Amino acid sequence: MIEKLLEDLNEQQREAVTYFDSPLLILAGAGSGKTRVITYKIAYMIEKFGYEPERILAVTFTNKAAREMKERVEQLLKGKAGVFVATFHSFCVRLLKSHSIRVGYKPNFLIIDSDDKKNLLKNIMKEMNLDTDLYNPVAIGSMISNVKNGLFSAEAMEFRGYDRFNDIMETYNNKLREMNAFDFDDLLFYAKKLLTEHDDIRKRYSSFFQYVLIDEYQDTNEIQYEITKALTIDKGNVCVVGDEDQCIYTWRGANINNILNFEKDFPGAKVIKLEKNYRCSGVILSAANAVIAHNKIRKGKKLFTDNEDGEPIRLFVGVNDQEEAYFVGKTVKRLIDTEIRPSDIAIFYRTNAQSRSIEDALRRLGINYQIVGGLKFYERKEIKDIIAYLRVILFDEDRLSIFRIFNTPKRGLGAAAEEKLKKLLDEGRGNLEALKVLLDTAPTRQKEGIKELIHIIEEGREKVNILKPYELVRFITIAARYEDYLRKEYREDWESRLENIRELGNTLEEFAERTGFKGEDLFLEFLNTITLSSDQDEMEEAEKVTLMTVHASKGLEFPVVFITGLEEGLFPHVRSLDSAEQIEEERRLFYVAITRAKKLLILTRAESRRFFGTYRESEPSRFLEEIPPNLIKKVMRKDRPSTTQTDKVSYVKKDKKPKIVFHKKFGKGVVRRVEGIGDNAKVTAFFANHGEKTIIMKFLKVLA
Ligand code: ATP
Ligand code: MG
Repeated sequence: MIEKLLEDLNEQQREAVTYFDSPLLILAGAGSGKTRVITYKIAYMIEKFGYEPERILAVTFTNKAAREMKERVEQLLKGKAGVFVATFHSFCVRLLKSHSIRVGYKPNFLIIDSDDKKNLLKNIMKEMNLDTDLYNPVAIGSMISNVKNGLFSAEAMEFRGYDRFNDIMETYNNKLREMNAFDFDDLLFYAKKLLTEHDDIRKRYSSFFQYVLIDEYQDTNEIQYEITKALTIDKGNVCVVGDEDQCIYTWRGANINNILNFEKDFPGAKVIKLEKNYRCSGVILSAANAVIAHNKIRKGKKLFTDNEDGEPIRLFVGVNDQEEAYFVGKTVKRLIDTEIRPSDIAIFYRTNAQSRSIEDALRRLGINYQIVGGLKFYERKEIKDIIAYLRVILFDEDRLSIFRIFNTPKRGLGAAAEEKLKKLLDEGRGNLEALKVLLDTAPTRQKEGIKELIHIIEEGREKVNILKPYELVRFITIAARYEDYLRKEYREDWESRLENIRELGNTLEEFAERTGFKGEDLFLEFLNTITLSSDQDEMEEAEKVTLMTVHASKGLEFPVVFITGLEEGLFPHVRSLDSAEQIEEERRLFYVAITRAKKLLILTRAESRRFFGTYRESEPSRFLEEIPPNLIKKVMRKDRPSTTQTDKVSYVKKDKKPKIVFHKKFGKGVVRRVEGIGDNAKVTAFFANHGEKTIIMKFLKVLA
């Protein structure tokens, strides 16, 4: 069994998996099997030394990556496992759950997301009467984040002219404490505090974990470094893997020096390099190597591959961004027609705003796509509302949520009532008590509305441990008359919003099944999980083309990759142009993008692009020139690449239209319309629980 495990690895990888004598750094380029090594190393430890799975800590960059790694280890071990694969944030949550008292928090804390944070800051600044031009809640929010992550001090902010910064931050932190809530940065900050200032806690965890492994180490920040060190410095039982050429989050505090200084920070450390790339075609890898060679801040490493050279990189230059988008759409369509699966194709862009024109083109061409990191499910208004109700039911101190739902749906409670409630809360009452006092003093016309809220909270608290999660969501929707509200306020899409709420119910049920949590615990766990969910977690495994920013693509791989908008000012981004260091970060980002591609890489740019409504000429990105010209084939506008269409067996005979079809997710549907013929015909059908959907024939089974 162990021998079989090791057979899947090359010599350096095997050495990395079997080495345990001192702290270990695996420093290697993209696609060389770093993540694979971590996965195999975990399986190896369990199999060979009988390590207890739950006493191994593996840290990945996203929840999705964590889930995949866990699954992969279980596969390797044929089922048994239970390794603790976490992200830094989820690890910190676990730590704080047991010890939050030590940093002055109750155990059942709340985690607020960036939207909550913004609202909270907005309120604070309003109360302080600050000029919101200078004191923009989002900007102040990220400054607070930087201070909490130790990037700079509060004094430095005051020095820059934000002389009320300290007051804002203090009020913000106090309010969080009153709500017994942490923001994302607090999770790391307080977990680090627990580990560095409470030696008993540190000792307990560092002896509990038999081994610690960290993926994407190049993007760890100062605090994450401290946490890693606190957990492993006693025994040196740590393995980190990373690639300094893929450090792309310095703007969020990632510190490239963590990886560059590993040998200094962890005495006796061993470094293993992996030099063989298994992911990319020869051409793609040569391009990546040539590009990254222009960077100075790097250790430098060679990367080779045994893969075939493969197809040349294609480059298309559009007259404007629309033509660029159309080219992308058309090419995607051709690829799909030649049997490439939509899920094998990814389209990258540097900034979110670029997605719109590409989306338009794909929609027009009838191509199914998904956006990773767009408006996320849990950021949708109706979902946030229902979750706010859930939170108010669960947390009597949650002051953010109570105001979110106070008059949503409208229940006759205006600004004056809100002001009164605020005062009552300020005097130290919990939500429910404050509402009851408010009820006693409220004018008659407001009494009904307040009673409704009290009813929801009281009933909800009674029901939370009795009802199934789906039913609790239903209870809220009905008790708050939320459906009527949607019908009235969102005439165009109230149905799909209601569908989203149902989907929330489904998600809760699935979550309950997966985790085994019940009642209140289930909701607490769920709320924490969704607040921590990140862009990649939104990715479905469906047959859809994937659109995402380059930042979100880290760690992933696709047979076909488009990188769009390769223009000066866009990629490299305009904010980076006046600093050599920033240009290097943009180059690393481009390197990450290139190395996601396995077989075919298509680069595009436009000669002019619309910015704030008007067209502006744009220069080609400097990165294009850094790719050796012999690797690139330019696609001319007239002779866009034509691939021979393969004749495919069609499901639909010309004379026989389908009547009933079956879809994996939607179930059985009755066909209303069919446009076109063959595999790519568009079928509009009615599905009992999902309404009308238009789907490409090839994703359907014809039942009658
Ligand atoms: P990145 O830097 O992008 O995170 P990585 O170094 O983590 O990449 P992996 O994702 O682990 O690389 O591996 C890249 C691809 O190569 C995967 O599809 C993996 O399964 C495959 N691979 C890695 N090592 C081997 C091997 N020894 N034999 C066969 N395939 C391998
Ligand atoms: Mg990886």
